Amino acid sequence: MKGIPKFTKDFTQQEPIPEEAIERAMKILRSGKLHRYNVAPGEKGEAALLETEFASYMGSNYCLATTSCGTSMYVALKSLGVKPGDKVLCNAYTLAPVPGAIENAGAVVELVEITDDYTIDLEDLDRKAESSGAKWLLISHMRGHMVDMDRLMQVCAKHDLRLIEDCAHTMGARWNGRLSGSFGIGACFSTQTYKHMNSGEGGLFITNDDEAMARAIIHSGSYMIYGRHDSRPDLEVFDRVKYHTANYSTRMDNLRASLLRPQLRILDDQCRRWNERYQVLEEGLKKIPGIWVPVRDPKEAYVGSSIQFNIPDADEATIRSFLAAALELGVELKWFGSAEPVGFTSAYHSWRYFGQLPDLPVTNRVLATMCDMRVPLTFNLEDCRLIVDILRDVAARLIKRNS
Ligand SMILES: *Cc1c(COP(=O)(O)O)cnc(C)c1O
Repeated sequence: MKGIPKFTKDFTQQEPIPEEAIERAMKILRSGKLHRYNVAPGEKGEAALLETEFASYMGSNYCLATTSCGTSMYVALKSLGVKPGDKVLCNAYTLAPVPGAIENAGAVVELVEITDDYTIDLEDLDRKAESSGAKWLLISHMRGHMVDMDRLMQVCAKHDLRLIEDCAHTMGARWNGRLSGSFGIGACFSTQTYKHMNSGEGGLFITNDDEAMARAIIHSGSYMIYGRHDSRPDLEVFDRVKYHTANYSTRMDNLRASLLRPQLRILDDQCRRWNERYQVLEEGLKKIPGIWVPVRDPKEAYVGSSIQFNIPDADEATIRSFLAAALELGVELKWFGSAEPVGFTSAYHSWRYFGQLPDLPVTNRVLATMCDMRVPLTFNLEDCRLIVDILRDVAARLIKRNS
């Protein structure tokens, strides 16, 4: 009997950096001027230009480039006014740098349940905002899943919650036509290799708030040469905050920024290409008995740079054998339900540095059977079809359905 062919491409293989970006980067390397403030008088450095261009893409007043999304969240929390001991609400399905940024700011995380479609449970948010008295919400659009943003904003308004968005997986995504990251008082993005623009490491923080951006720029390590930023408020604003703002040294350099500027110009097209792949996978996976793919709201213009699905009836042993059989055929899946954190995957119960964390039964149940797969743009549509065939084959062999 002829078996199903094995998938042989690498799930961590990104596309090359655009030639134009490589040329710019080479120019910077040859000049030796990698530091963002190492510019001639009047010259605009790549980091400053990237900030102006990203702020313009997002329709935001200001942008600051940093070393990672994690540092940009930390700088965002500090510069927007989170104080030590403040409570910060956050959806429990997120990545470890998110609670890490909250801890780094000296604040306390208040985890909120998620629903079966992986987004924050707005009823639990309503309850926990009430019971905790928290005034901050750091929403993480984890793996690109956006909650109904209109309803979220209503809950925020009801409890006077100041919203900060973690858009590591929603760069270029929209809710009802409006860009993810433009709903809160600040938003953070990642330009780490596995996100939507690739500079190895890197982060972007946007806000419309004058004082917050002045503080963020100084926090990021501008010393007293913040005047070399273009995406910034008037210099008087810096005068108000400069003696009271610590330098955390989290600057992005011109080299990384030069890699990102040409990528920003093709971002929307890349998002479209991700979604072509996502839609083939989603269509295919939905038809596999035993596999459940969340239904996405038509208002959610997501970016399908990864796909998640549940095997709701599977126990731990079944999931483990499913993952092993898929891997045997070259399909690399991750699993959020493991008791021990593995690889990049993180589950909230491993963030014990906050002390006792709440028990979140729905989040636990959802994560217990959730699988996760990267969708690099180096896969073509044919590859996506083969992945579906493989998972169908594996599911038919291993998933026993209760119903
Ligand atoms: C990757 C990621 C981050 C952190 O980004 P870094 O740039 O690696 O610090 C934060 N939140 C989510 C949801 C992510 O996926």
